[in-house]
Amino acid sequence: MKIVFATKNEGKVREIKEMLASTNVELLSLNHFESLPEIVEDGKTYLENALKKARIVSESTGETVLADDSGLEVAALGGEPGIYSARYAGEGASDDENNARLLDKLKDIPRERRDASFCCALVLYETNGNYHSFEARWQGRIIDESKGDNGFGYDPIFFCPELNKTAAQLPPEIKNKVSHRGQAFAKLKDYLGSLLT
Ligand code: IMP
Repeated sequence: MKIVFATKNEGKVREIKEMLASTNVELLSLNHFESLPEIVEDGKTYLENALKKARIVSESTGETVLADDSGLEVAALGGEPGIYSARYAGEGASDDENNARLLDKLKDIPRERRDASFCCALVLYETNGNYHSFEARWQGRIIDESKGDNGFGYDPIFFCPELNKTAAQLPPEIKNKVSHRGQAFAKLKDYLGSLLT
């Protein structure tokens, strides 16, 4: 089964290929296609953004498309940065800049009020316009000091109490099991499995 994953981020593609390794899915990224339309992520939710990406890419390529959208929500900040996670410190901001902005906003918030969760919405969009969505969350806490070199984004300051490590200290195969994306992909895998039986 061929699925186009609506991303140009080869790091993410690698992560997802690992998660789908036990299936018969052939995963292609947007780097296999030329001149696709620009997609503005202007939805109010992760699901709206993922669905918009999946629909536009499916209509342009004529393929079944998988799209995801994710972000970090900090309860004490009313759910910020949320859907603005990638550009929290401004358009084109680096991970370090986004993390610095978040830590600055949390500087007066004590440890016990730093609960946060990563959220992921996945959409599998079929060529006939039908789609299925899968969502998941990963609970943790934001810490002041960056720890670990793996992963990306907010991983170095996202502490997972169950594993006593930041997301950036986890080996990829462990992060892929417990993370918001990992859990959403597990739901997708169950669904793909049910299609084959
Ligand atoms: P995207 O929708 O998956 O591209 O994620 C949007 C933004 O959310 C990223 O640029 C990161 O800032 C943040 N984010 C999403 N997932 C993760 C993760 O697993 N680790 C760290 N940051 C993440």
